[in-house]
Amino acid sequence: MPDFFINGQPVHAEKGQTVMQAALAAGFYIPYFCWHPHLSVAGNCRVCVVEVEGENGGENWAEIACNMPVSEGMRVLTDSERVRELRKQTLQFILLNHPVDCGICDKAGECMLQDHHYAYNGEPSISTVPKVRATKYHQLSDRIVLDNERCIVCSRCVRFTREISGSHGLAIQNRGDHSLVRAAEDGRFNADPYSDNVVDICPVGALLGKQFLHKARVWYLQATPSVCPGCARGCTVNVWHRKREWKLNHLDPKQNTEIARVTPLENPAVNGPWICNKGRDLAQVFGRARAEQPLLKGKPATLLQAVGAARGLIAEAARPVALVSSWGSNEELAAFKRALGERFACFVKADHRPAPGEVVQDELLIRADKNPNTATARELFGAAPLSFPDGTDLVLVWGEGFDFAGLPRGARVIFLGSYLAPENGHADVFVPLSIQTERAGHYTNFAGVTSSFERCFAKPPNVAHAEEFFAQLAVTAGAR
Ligand code: SF4
Ligand code: SF4
Repeated sequence: MPDFFINGQPVHAEKGQTVMQAALAAGFYIPYFCWHPHLSVAGNCRVCVVEVEGENGGENWAEIACNMPVSEGMRVLTDSERVRELRKQTLQFILLNHPVDCGICDKAGECMLQDHHYAYNGEPSISTVPKVRATKYHQLSDRIVLDNERCIVCSRCVRFTREISGSHGLAIQNRGDHSLVRAAEDGRFNADPYSDNVVDICPVGALLGKQFLHKARVWYLQATPSVCPGCARGCTVNVWHRKREWKLNHLDPKQNTEIARVTPLENPAVNGPWICNKGRDLAQVFGRARAEQPLLKGKPATLLQAVGAARGLIAEAARPVALVSSWGSNEELAAFKRALGERFACFVKADHRPAPGEVVQDELLIRADKNPNTATARELFGAAPLSFPDGTDLVLVWGEGFDFAGLPRGARVIFLGSYLAPENGHADVFVPLSIQTERAGHYTNFAGVTSSFERCFAKPPNVAHAEEFFAQLAVTAGAR
């Protein structure tokens, strides 16, 4: 356990730590591009250079902090005049051929190159010859474009595909100022289910997700903590959407309530700093055409009428069965259990199953169960496979994934759903429910870790929150 000094202050380091790791852990700032806490050390950007004071009157020397192990008693300077000059030179070199097109770059506002440039350089390129041109908008995959002029060849993206996702889908070809990041020609990067993480870890605006391309400046957006419901891993994510104060008044107002992008919310207990591509596509899941109208046998009704009709059906039923949603939050599942758990024979339903072509399960994050809260649902309602008892005369279907052709003959149906579907009009009572981005709650993942999600948008007026709806039905529980 060596102790050493940073800028004259004593710092404790764990055995084997580098100066970079120990400095960051102790709250000292050292800039970096190619270094990443979850990737191997490449040491190629050189911007993390620090000054080490010579021992016994020896000369000071400069070294990169990311690749230098701490040794007992060493004295490091992270912000000396020499260090600032070396970083300035490094940035002048990195920016020699860079287009500095921040005005049209999606990374602006969260770009490490912008930040370090203004901290250590801030001057125009020193190049006296035309900049080397490289490929713009190179289609790296179906999901990602690459601007090679912005790439600083830090190799983070390449190392990610080798060390984290394991696809080995990216490499760097050519040398020097002709270096180009390119995808393997056999399509393995395109098939990498974690490929979009390279967009996050690219320290500059070279790698851009097509979904978010030129969609919004990041300072107009806010990140709401949430949980990906795409599988039982329950990765924690940030859902990015337009800030209230930057609401659009003269363009399509739908943009004010749309998910602009989804990024990982680092969580060592669940997903580390990564998510899979499916988690990035939540806008498509939650952006489907919504059901916003309660229905009684296909005819429009008010929420109050729908509640009344549902209560009547529950009161009359002799053998009611409920298919409980594995997309319900812990709070909603508990509310159902409290209100109706004794009245219904309950079976947990898989709302979603693996889609054709989807990676079903792997060693990194992706789980075969494509539902976020099967753990809590089974804890409360058991794991028995669905089997309608003889005489079932009422079925309450909560959420997606049930084939209505399998309903017992003659049974009445209460259907609680969120999206437009033909089944909505066939149910005796249909109640539209709010979706995850319109409420707060918790999911418990397959390993028993509970994570919370928060509300991003208001729910439409005629849509019910499941938790409140179940409480309204509670008065009929047990009644015959
Ligand atoms: S594309 Fe981005 S992450 Fe990849 S080498 Fe270039 S700068 Fe680094
Ligand atoms: S691994 Fe599962 S929970 Fe995580 S982002 Fe992918 S689909 Fe969502």
